[in-house]
Amino acid sequence: MSDFYCENIFSGKIEITTVKETENILAFYHTKPSWTIHIVIVPKEHIKTFTDANTKILGEIMSVAQDIIKSLKLDKSNYKLIVNGGSFQDSEHLHFHLVSGKRGIDLGE
Ligand SMILES: [Zn+2]
Repeated sequence: MSDFYCENIFSGKIEITTVKETENILAFYHTKPSWTIHIVIVPKEHIKTFTDANTKILGEIMSVAQDIIKSLKLDKSNYKLIVNGGSFQDSEHLHFHLVSGKRGIDLGE
């Protein structure tokens, strides 16, 4: 399993459109979206999985998610916040998908 975020995003290899950035968290529009609105929220620190993350960083991720949901008014339409683990996890770096609207291709990607 590769680490898309350290290898391509934090290295600057792939250009992204940032939605929100804090000291420890980066949120950006998915480079291959599978929903009308598809945002990825990742810790800047390398954390492998959801179960490896401490509550402080998880709290910061949730707070960023709340801010984005409010600022984009997703609570007026719809949204889901998703974390994949085990064989569902595609990249070896913890990331949450914040999605809204209609689904195109499979989110398991
Ligand atoms: Zn990483």
